[in-house]
Amino acid sequence: MADSFHISVITPKHTFFDQDARMLVVEAEDGQLGILPGHEPMVVSMIEGTLRIQLLDGSWREAAASSGFATVLPDEVDVMLQTAEWPEDIDENRAREAARIARERLRQQKSMQEYHLARTMLARAMVRLRITSRGHNN
Ligand code: ATP
Repeated sequence: MADSFHISVITPKHTFFDQDARMLVVEAEDGQLGILPGHEPMVVSMIEGTLRIQLLDGSWREAAASSGFATVLPDEVDVMLQTAEWPEDIDENRAREAARIARERLRQQKSMQEYHLARTMLARAMVRLRITSRGHNN
């Protein structure tokens, strides 16, 4: 079986990643999911979390990812995300401020919709902060 497959990660703003790689780990609704070449076809719903890619040289890259979908085929995975950032592109102060605002909104508890928006805003900010605090490469 092939030991690599094509991974593309796109957001409404740009093509974030478009290369052959060895493995992909995404944050699915029921936990982290590792995807290897040859995987049976499926669609994965992704939540805010880390996206980890093992490159052809065996090294790993980690990114902050928001919600989205991954379409998995044996030789290709296409990931569509609202946002994605490498650690070096994350503005830590902005994420800290976003977390503060989200917590404030959660405290105010205006409506269910606002509660859910604030919760995902907080989740995005926490993922960004977690990734920057781990350093730029894993
Ligand atoms: P914030 O929560 O900071 O107000 P936002 O919720 O408006 O951000 P998103 O919708 O998560 O932002 O993302 C909008 C765009 O800004 C995306 O392109 C995303 O990659 C980028 N972005 C958001 N927060 C950061 C950050 N802390 N550092 C770098 N880029 C960011």
